Amino acid sequence: MEGKESMFEENKDNQKLLTSFEFEPGKVEKGYTDRRLYINLSENKIEEKPIDLQVKETFTGGRGYGIWYLWDAVSSKTKWNDPENEIIFCTGPICGVTQYSGTGKTHVVTLSPETGTVNDNNVGGYLAPFLKFSGWDLLEIQGKAKEDVIIFIDGNKGKVIIEEVPGINSDTYLLIEKLTEKYADDEKDKRNISIVSSGRGAENTNLGILNVSWYDAHRKKVRIKQAGRGGTGSVFRDKKILAIVVKYSGVNAGSNNAAYPELLKKAGQRLTKEILGLDHIQNGMRETGTVNLLDHMQNYNCLPVHNYKFGSHPDAFKIENKVWYQRMTQNQAGDSCWMGCAMRCSHAVDEFKLATGPLKGEKVLVDGPEYETAAGFGGNCGCFDPDFVLEANFYCDNYGMDTIGVSTTMAFLMECYENNIINKEITEGLELNFGNIKAALELIHQMAKGKGFGKIAGLGIRQIKKILVEKYGADAEFLQDIGMECKGMEFSEYVTKESLAQQGGYGIANKGPQHDESWLIFMDQVNNQIPTFEDKAEALHYFPLFRTWFSIVGLCKLPWNDIEPEDNKQKYHGMEAAKVPEHLENYCWLFEGVTGKHISPEELILQSERVHNLQRLFNLKMGFGTREHDIIPYRAMGPVTAEEYESRKEFYDQQLKEIIKFDIKDKTTEEKIKNLRDYREEQYQKLCDAVYKRRGWDSNGVPTLENIKKLKIDFPEVIELVKKYQS
Ligand code: SF4
Repeated sequence: MEGKESMFEENKDNQKLLTSFEFEPGKVEKGYTDRRLYINLSENKIEEKPIDLQVKETFTGGRGYGIWYLWDAVSSKTKWNDPENEIIFCTGPICGVTQYSGTGKTHVVTLSPETGTVNDNNVGGYLAPFLKFSGWDLLEIQGKAKEDVIIFIDGNKGKVIIEEVPGINSDTYLLIEKLTEKYADDEKDKRNISIVSSGRGAENTNLGILNVSWYDAHRKKVRIKQAGRGGTGSVFRDKKILAIVVKYSGVNAGSNNAAYPELLKKAGQRLTKEILGLDHIQNGMRETGTVNLLDHMQNYNCLPVHNYKFGSHPDAFKIENKVWYQRMTQNQAGDSCWMGCAMRCSHAVDEFKLATGPLKGEKVLVDGPEYETAAGFGGNCGCFDPDFVLEANFYCDNYGMDTIGVSTTMAFLMECYENNIINKEITEGLELNFGNIKAALELIHQMAKGKGFGKIAGLGIRQIKKILVEKYGADAEFLQDIGMECKGMEFSEYVTKESLAQQGGYGIANKGPQHDESWLIFMDQVNNQIPTFEDKAEALHYFPLFRTWFSIVGLCKLPWNDIEPEDNKQKYHGMEAAKVPEHLENYCWLFEGVTGKHISPEELILQSERVHNLQRLFNLKMGFGTREHDIIPYRAMGPVTAEEYESRKEFYDQQLKEIIKFDIKDKTTEEKIKNLRDYREEQYQKLCDAVYKRRGWDSNGVPTLENIKKLKIDFPEVIELVKKYQS
């Protein structure tokens, strides 16, 4: 079987120890270890480095540390595949707390092959807590190995080993099973192993992900979560890292050595009670997880269908929430991706029989699907078939490819195919019509292998557009309108045409159009709680900062607002209710409980503001980060084609008449599209103006010197950089 070739036993003669390093297993003090593990793979060097006090005070932890140390490591000329690019695994001070749900997140920072600038991802699994409890706030990897290597960190013995292991299939599922067995002493010890891996899809595309594991002792299976966006896995494989294995035993409620454990307990008990009592009547995260969103998105016309042309489809019921409820094995304690998470939203479909590819005929566990995967492959590619969604989900994970990047790219290619921009000659025989499951699966396998048309598809939309224009004479403007990428990253799976705030949430996001920076569709489009530009700008100031905070302290976002106190909407209204004030209070207790430092909700936002602005400045350093890079394709704003307009003709006609005061009598669809477009594009620019102003940026989207000073990130090189952009 193709997937089982060249595993460890067969390969023993080729494996060799490159270097090793001993360290004192670190004691965590109030959530921090204050040191980072630095590895240079070009030089086989392993070192302990301190976290500077000023860095700690300015950037708090997690993503804040990662962005700062990456800034330090690279120049404005560094490319994603240069040895000096780093891949940094970050932990935050609250990370690993077992008394509160959602505290196991790892945050990964690197330069992205898709965007050419700094990229961040968060991912579940046991990696970050194990890393921190071993003694490291950060794992910072620079350089490139000559052959594939495994980095093994034994957190109890205080040892790091780098072994050369050439010729091993990098695909995730078999690899992590073997590695878990290899590094665990016995069945019980498997719970003490967490592995980072990727796959051959990350080697051959720009859409590579990292899979981070934990051992599901209930199923007796290794489970994974993904750091998915921006090609982080492609950097990992470019550095020839086959896997990182961290082993640590002894996690307990005191592992963070918290200042006031009683505060953690108080916050944890309050949240757990809400989850256990209310989840089944709110979002059902314990039943199906994020895929519960699918029905809502279909109902509100926000489900991406046929490359975001439409927001709903009559066949969407085939992949609706209840289908996944039946497919996912229910009531599994192993569905918590870190210890103590009562939300248990990391569901899986067990015993799924694969129909294609190197593991054809095997029964496998599929981690997911999450909403994004089901919406992307099911709706956006027009393949409303749960078996297809599961097969695509499994193989993307196994090959180490981003389900969002792959499905959004595929949807774009399908629209190109249906518009004769590409044909069977170009696709080497693939009939890429919407809904063609066979062709879609073949394309996934080709992408992973870097073969056939998959070689082009794996480049991602921005580079594909260039090839189609330069080599095949495609209409650049049309491709710009329908190619759903911004800053080089593919959109995640929401139709934003009727939510100006969400358009900004995507376009102005630091790393690219990913919903984890802000998700305002409900507040804006469904509940109409932020009607003015100022309201939207306020939401686009606050919510991205609030979400940034999770990434600097090591938290999962989901227990913040995917569960709410029963009386949240009675006690608070509008944007205040959306902040979930009691959960904000929990977060203040958590921060104080661990670090011993009292914090207010406003100070929490200030901590984020420093990191968020530094990330914007990092984009600037790399040659991006200005207004022109915040522009989104028109399809994210309104209907590009007559077919799209006609599909909601009454709705758009009414807008033209009532809001724009445009006389539609005797007007052609094309004339109506043009007028609607002029209006919507202007609205988007006005939104950018309002958001930049609220964020303390100038009209070009550059943080002002005044703002930088206020935030105390006015380091000499930052000042020098910003001065270049001042008129
Ligand atoms: S809420 Fe879900 S994703 Fe977040 S930590 Fe818990 S199980 Fe993991």
